[in-house]
Amino acid sequence: MADNARQNTPAAIMRMSRLYAPTLKELPADAELASHKLALRAGLIRRSASGIYSFLPLGYRVIKNIERIVREEMDAIGCQEVLLPVVQPAELWQQSGRWDDYGPELARLADRHERMFCLGPTHEEIITDLVRGEIRSYRDLPFTLYQLQIKFRDEIRPRFGLLRGREFIMKDAYSFHASQESLDEHYRAQSEAYARICDRLSLAYRAVDADNGQIGGSVSTEFLALADDGEAELIYCRCGYAANTETYGDDFDRDNLPACPRCGAPMQIARGIEVSQVFQLGDKYSRTMGLVYQDESGADCYPLMGCYGVGISRSLAAVIEQHHDDDGIMWPRSIAPYQVAILMLSEGDEAAAFAETLATELAACGIEVLIDDRDERAGVKFADADLIGTPLQVIVGKRGFEAGEVELKLRKTGERSTATLAEAATTVKRTLDT
Ligand code: ATP
Ligand code: MG
Repeated sequence: MADNARQNTPAAIMRMSRLYAPTLKELPADAELASHKLALRAGLIRRSASGIYSFLPLGYRVIKNIERIVREEMDAIGCQEVLLPVVQPAELWQQSGRWDDYGPELARLADRHERMFCLGPTHEEIITDLVRGEIRSYRDLPFTLYQLQIKFRDEIRPRFGLLRGREFIMKDAYSFHASQESLDEHYRAQSEAYARICDRLSLAYRAVDADNGQIGGSVSTEFLALADDGEAELIYCRCGYAANTETYGDDFDRDNLPACPRCGAPMQIARGIEVSQVFQLGDKYSRTMGLVYQDESGADCYPLMGCYGVGISRSLAAVIEQHHDDDGIMWPRSIAPYQVAILMLSEGDEAAAFAETLATELAACGIEVLIDDRDERAGVKFADADLIGTPLQVIVGKRGFEAGEVELKLRKTGERSTATLAEAATTVKRTLDT
């Protein structure tokens, strides 16, 4: 329910005749995956350059819904939102050693004084610099800061639309701790929040070990949305053990799978999309960048850090990969750009007035409505509603309206039902809730 009670002010009503959602007739040849094709066709995104996209109104509404869910989950575990700079001074990256280590993925630029900067691919250096000098004692710890922001990575092979972009939206959080127990506790809270985020996005997923199998247990977990076309490969067991096959190194043999390291049973392979990852950093950044606090005895110590990233724009694409058919997208209600589409097949003032009243009543309950008021054939309206993928369609047909009825269609199942004009609003709300 929380996902649907979005605001206290009435929700948005949009007319399709005004909606800026240009549909694409000719798909680019590199659009292979369903999520890439459908995001372009439905007018969610447009490409500016390789791996660089604009979000159009429908796509950006979905992004904002994903961000709202992620914010709620971060705030619920006590994280505090900040906004860090995109342009980062080279000196900080030189201090951590990553100016050299990061390689050509790091986009570097000089300002007019020829001082070097980079575009943030991630923010460990900036955050460590931000808090050093500010925290003094163990009493200042622990805390976690997070942001929602555009990242830039000059990926060697941008592809699959939003799945592997160069410019993409990420939620990144950074935590600071005085003890391993405190880091463990927050790492667990983040992992649980990440599982809830996947659930609220209706993503079927697996949490997998992402470390390189060193003794001492896992220090990193990836959340992979299951998808046959995903770039990541995982191996899993009925006992619950699962790992990215990368952790097995080069000698991983697909034809001769290893037995489960936890219970010895045979394991299976699947593919997925990495939508998020949590990581224990230890004192790597606090040590190299000189971030210290004083413990109870007054001795200088390096805080332990964790970092936690969710790919916001990649999640949008992962949801489409899991929720679509040949006709288009099937948005889960929690992130749909609009929850209901009213298809006006009946012309005339009476039908228009009915649609207006219905939309206003739904909007008052926090349900966003798209009214297809265009001068188009019924077939075009049906096709576009299926393509855009609002969870519920209300069809105001010519004959039905005269007989005092509208038709309801659930996008996901195709299930149809009818409601009288008087009961339309109540029936829509009830149908959305089931
Ligand atoms: P990958 O292995 O897919 O390159 P990563 O492990 O380098 O990703 P992280 O540094 O863990 O990525 O970033 C956190 C999250 O940001 C990822 O889990 C993913 O959802 C998202 N992300 C990373 N790179 C991209 C990209 N090029 N395009 C879109 N989203 C990305
Ligand atoms: Mg990762």
